Amino acid sequence: MLVMNNKIIIVGGGASALMLASLLPKNSAILLETNAKLGSKILVSGGGKCNITNATMDTKYYLGDSDFIAPSLKTFNEKSLLKWLSRQGLEPVIRKESQYFCKDSSKEILDIFKKESKKQDIMLEEKVISTSKRNNIFYVKTDKKTYSSGTLVVASGGLSFPKLGASSIGYEIAKSFGHSIVKTAPALVGFTVQKEQFFFKELSGISTEVCIYVGKHKCKGALLFAHKGLSGPCVLDASLYWEKGKIEIDFLPDFLWENISKNNKIISSIMPLPKRVSKAFLLQLGVEDKPYHVLTKEEREKLSILKHYRFAPAGTFGYAKAEVTKGGVSTLEIDASTMMSKKENNLYFIGEVLDVTGRLGGYNFQWAFSSAFSCARHIKKEKNEKKIK
Ligand SMILES: Cc1cc2nc3c(=O)[nH]c(=O)nc-3n(C[C@H](O)[C@H](O)[C@H](O)COP(=O)(O)OP(=O)(O)OC[C@H]3O[C@@H](n4cnc5c(N)ncnc54)[C@H](O)[C@@H]3O)c2cc1C
Repeated sequence: MLVMNNKIIIVGGGASALMLASLLPKNSAILLETNAKLGSKILVSGGGKCNITNATMDTKYYLGDSDFIAPSLKTFNEKSLLKWLSRQGLEPVIRKESQYFCKDSSKEILDIFKKESKKQDIMLEEKVISTSKRNNIFYVKTDKKTYSSGTLVVASGGLSFPKLGASSIGYEIAKSFGHSIVKTAPALVGFTVQKEQFFFKELSGISTEVCIYVGKHKCKGALLFAHKGLSGPCVLDASLYWEKGKIEIDFLPDFLWENISKNNKIISSIMPLPKRVSKAFLLQLGVEDKPYHVLTKEEREKLSILKHYRFAPAGTFGYAKAEVTKGGVSTLEIDASTMMSKKENNLYFIGEVLDVTGRLGGYNFQWAFSSAFSCARHIKKEKNEKKIK
């Protein structure tokens, strides 16, 4: 069945799509979402409290072309977002120094989007299968119908968390219109380890503060030993920059051996590490648990590794566990201030489907909302200009 209308078609019903649907005029858009519910990722995000944005906003917190990211972040930054949310009655709270979260539950922000986007046609359980264009009209085929429109916005996200509806449709649509895709990979995800680090698995469930160095990038925060390898905020953050090869972990940040050189206590009780972690490292390094000052020079050298523990992760936990997908539709072929394709008129890409990936801390939602804002502003301007003509 072909549904002919003049409404803007939005592929996806996640963060960027919902912001766009909320900003566009009433009855101007039709949103196609494969899931039975809107905003599934919003609901599970930020440990159920949705880390909406960050008070420290800058292009340097993103992987991607900063010249492309900057205009949207400037036009609709974290302050504009907070103001918009405040008008809808939501006052996020700051946690972990600069991260804005919903006070009690992600439902608070999702409810706002549901209320604001109600003015559009919301089609749930409609999986977009393919798109085409003839005589300036886009045809969007779902598993139920075919929709037509003069404007198509792809807001279908990346490949992460397939159980929440993720699919490759955004990249397929992009490719069908001649766009290039920057190689994708799971990001904000845990690392699996090689044989030499299998002892980490025995520490599963224990968390400790570390610094991780990946190339020229430094991440600081909690590392969680996990059944599959390494996880926790600091590891997730570091995974954004990891391609292949070695990373370095400082398991003793802000700690100096000199400060314990005269201490009579055994090292496992004075190193600022959970005791089980200290003991596991001592065993691995073949160092006896005794006071630091009685250790041999060789033993001290072995211990010093804890401040620059270098190893190559085997891989990552994969898309099933990754919070985001890095890579995506090349931003070289997208207009930075409108999100419109430079290859196909009235075709737009917003959110995570683009080759823009933020660090942990609310940066990915901010990008979803900022890019949706740039797109909405341009579509509204175009429609107004048409009306005047
Ligand atoms: C567990 C988890 C926690 C996270 N926590 C945070 C956080 O606290 N802060 C933060 O900034 N970011 C967080 N993120 C990342 C953030 O959720 C995403 O970056 C953001 O949702 C991207 O928005 P989007 O609209 O581009 O894509 P999405 O929100 O992924 O929306 C895309 C939508 O398109 C739909 N779709 C896909 N294929 C089709 C198709 N063929 N037909 C129809 N519909 C389709 C999907 O079902 C989905 O609803 C988290 C992600 C995960 C997985």
